[in-house]
Amino acid sequence: MMIPLEVLEVIKKYLTNRALKTTALTGAGISKESGIPTFREDDGLWQKYNPSIYANLAGLMLRFLHGPQDVVNFATDFTEPILNARPNSAHMALATLEKDYNLSALITQNIDNLHQEAKSEQIIELHGNIYRAICQRCQSSFMISRKDLMNFIESLQKHSRSRIKLFRIYRELYPKCNCGGRFRPDIVFFGESLNQENIDRAYQVLSKSSLVFLVGTSSVVYPAASLPVYAKENGARIIEINLERSQLSDISDYNIFAKVTDAFTEILNYLKKGSA
Ligand code: NAD
Repeated sequence: MMIPLEVLEVIKKYLTNRALKTTALTGAGISKESGIPTFREDDGLWQKYNPSIYANLAGLMLRFLHGPQDVVNFATDFTEPILNARPNSAHMALATLEKDYNLSALITQNIDNLHQEAKSEQIIELHGNIYRAICQRCQSSFMISRKDLMNFIESLQKHSRSRIKLFRIYRELYPKCNCGGRFRPDIVFFGESLNQENIDRAYQVLSKSSLVFLVGTSSVVYPAASLPVYAKENGARIIEINLERSQLSDISDYNIFAKVTDAFTEILNYLKKGSA
C-alpha cells in the first residue's frame, strides 16, 4: 500500500463525518497528467519563456512591440495544452468526494476549467479561467467556447508577423463592453490583484475546515500559498499530495509523495471499501 493506513483512516474519518468540513486546494500539478505543463518544473513553461517578461501584461506588451511572433508562440504554448486537456482521475475523484462524501469546497489556482469539466460544483477560482473574458471596468464577464479559443490561437499563428492583424484578432475575441470598458482574458497575471470576493470566500471556507488537501502546488505563489497557513492556524489538519517536497511540506500534518492520480485512486478505493 502506498498511503499509510493511519493517513487513510484520518481521511476517512473527516470525509465521512458531516460535522467536519474538508476543503481541497489545487495547483498546476493536478492537471499535469492531463497534459498541461506546470510553470516551474524542469519541463515547465518558465524553462522556455522568461517569466519576468511573459508572466506579466506589461512585459508581454513590450515583447509584442519588438517581436509579436514570440508572444504568439508563448500564447500558443500556454493555451494549446489546456485546450487539448480533459479531466484526469484526480479531478474526477475530487468531484466524487464532493458528491458522495464530505468535501465541501475546492479552491483552485488553475485556470484550465478541468474541475468544472469533472463536475465539481463548489469551486473557488483564485486565478481566473482561460475560457472567460472579463470587463476591466465593470467586471461583467462572458464565457468563450473551446472552439472559439482554438480558432483564436489558429488566427494568431496565421498572422503572427502582423501586429495590426494580431491586434484586430485580439479585439474581436475581447471586444468593448457596453459600459465603455474593454474585455480581457480573465487570468490573473503576476503582479495583478486577485478578485477580493474569491479570496474572502476562500478564507471563509478555510476558517471552517477541519481538513485541507493541498494538491499539486509548489506553494510559492502568493496569496494562494498563505491560505493553508491560515487554515492550519485555525485548527485544520493539512494533507499534502505532491510528487516532491513543497514550500508547505513542513506545515503539513501528512505528506503523500505520489502522483495525484495514484493518490486519489487509493483514497477512493479505501473509502469505497470502508462503505461496502
Ligand atoms: P507550480 O508549477 O509552481 O507547481 C506544480 C507542483 O505540482 C509542483 O510542486 C510539482 O511537484 C507538483 N506536481 C507536478 N506533477 C504532479 C503530479 N502528477 N502529481 C502530484 N504533484 C505534481 O504550480 P502552482 O503551485 O500551481 O503555481 C503556478 C501558478 O501557475 C498557479 O498560480 C496557476 O494558476 C498557474 N498555472 C496553472 C496551470 C493550469 O491551469 N493547469 C498550469 C500552469 C500554471
